[in-house]
Amino acid sequence: MNGLVWLRSDLRIDDNPALSMASVECKKLVCIYLLADKEWKIHNNANVKLDFILRNLKSLSGDLKKLNIPFISACATSFDEIPIIISKLCSSNNIKKCYWNNEFGVDEEIRDKNVESSLKSLEIEYQSFDDQTLYKPGTLLTGQGNPFSVFTPFKKKWIETFSLDHLEIETDIRIKEPFKVINTLSEEISFTKTHAVGMDLWPPGELAAETRLKSFLSKKVFQYSKDRNDPILDGTSRMSPYLAIGAISNRRCLLEALKLNNFELQTGNKGVCKWIDEIIWREFYKNIMHSFPRVSMNKPFNLSTTSIQWRHNEVEIKAWKDGKTGFPLIDAAMLQLKYEGWMHNRLRMVAAMFFTKNLLHDWRIGEAFFMENLIDGDFASNNGGWQWSASTGTDAAPYFRIFNPVTQSQNFDPSGEFIKKYLPQLASLNNKEIHLPSPENLFEIDYPDQIVDLKSSRLRAIEVFKANK
Ligand code: FAD
Repeated sequence: MNGLVWLRSDLRIDDNPALSMASVECKKLVCIYLLADKEWKIHNNANVKLDFILRNLKSLSGDLKKLNIPFISACATSFDEIPIIISKLCSSNNIKKCYWNNEFGVDEEIRDKNVESSLKSLEIEYQSFDDQTLYKPGTLLTGQGNPFSVFTPFKKKWIETFSLDHLEIETDIRIKEPFKVINTLSEEISFTKTHAVGMDLWPPGELAAETRLKSFLSKKVFQYSKDRNDPILDGTSRMSPYLAIGAISNRRCLLEALKLNNFELQTGNKGVCKWIDEIIWREFYKNIMHSFPRVSMNKPFNLSTTSIQWRHNEVEIKAWKDGKTGFPLIDAAMLQLKYEGWMHNRLRMVAAMFFTKNLLHDWRIGEAFFMENLIDGDFASNNGGWQWSASTGTDAAPYFRIFNPVTQSQNFDPSGEFIKKYLPQLASLNNKEIHLPSPENLFEIDYPDQIVDLKSSRLRAIEVFKANK
């Protein structure tokens, strides 16, 4: 039988359930990747993420070739066009069955239903699999049968349900008979670079993802619970871009981490346990996205926050985006985003909280800006992180607990090394001045004045949230 595997956010061979099943059932196989231009833009996906995907596709195409599996990538104008494209390719190549791994966004689920209908009408079989999370989103429920909206009980249930069987990973893909595919896909994916990220930071491909994981698990993970909050220590794995496009699976990450910890989830090495917690956070937010579709429709998770009166000031928004707020930690964070396409988790929280609380701007503006610039842009985690910071989300930070960016800077970048890396013009400031330079410190230094007063803006945010209650 001839089969087709439709790759989406699973750009790998290892632990790819759709590809594994296709490899068992089909004599000849083709893999395709389709970029829907319109949705890419509507969903605010980043130019740097597309660059990363294209580099990964090149690497994956080479790996598939070794298995005699041809690979085609193409551009569709929109999700609506995809059923036609896939049906045409199947009909022209006598393909009898299609395989894919599920995505859980609202638009993606509609797209897949339409592809299913179109294949059904042509009497082509299809089968979908779950690879994004350990348990299919929406299947872990509270005692009352409801989806979880708080992380800790979700995690408890996740751990109670866990068994090592969940980590039985299929790695063996059989070499196929050569398949001379008639390519009916016309539009190639075109790319114009508009980002400023040094891509050497993010080598593409499965091997690069595995190497990064191995390197993190050989050393940094043991200090993770201690080092994960200090941006200059770079004590986190930086696996997020690879997880976001599926160049590595969450199960592979979990399995390799657990091997180090005698297969213990909560006991043993603190660093490993903490790192596993973060992978569970990722799963939590995918569950929220799936079980509460309103979060994908620009609505807050906590509907009582719908009527919060956000301010709007273009000058402030631009200063925040450009890293020119006058608060060195925030500005260094925004420059890290610009030049790395990635931002340290602590800084994501600090920058998002400053935007939504001190500036009191609508979280949706910041959320979109992050997506437009992150190489690891992932709707569920980004939305979850923004709504947490804005106190509109599940399990969110209470509205009155507002991070002070200066205290955060003193605590997590005490000697200002991280700040100086991105703002070298502040290199002459001492450990005290660096966190909040005064005009006298800035004599002849090109650095902006603070755009907001921290104390009064904090009180303003608390008042607005209180009034909304
Ligand atoms: P590690 O600390 O090594 O963690 C390992 C993995 O666990 C990560 O790769 C990631 O997949 C997952 N993870 C870690 N922290 C979180 C978290 N808080 N929530 C969900 N998953 C987590 N993460 C994204 O992958 N994409 C995003 O678009 C994104 N946007 C965010 C926006 C805001 C405002 C905030 C506060 C957080 C956001 N996060 C996002 C979560 C987190 O910041 C990143 O996952 C993390 O910084 C990635 O770095 P790492 O791979 O070194 O993480």
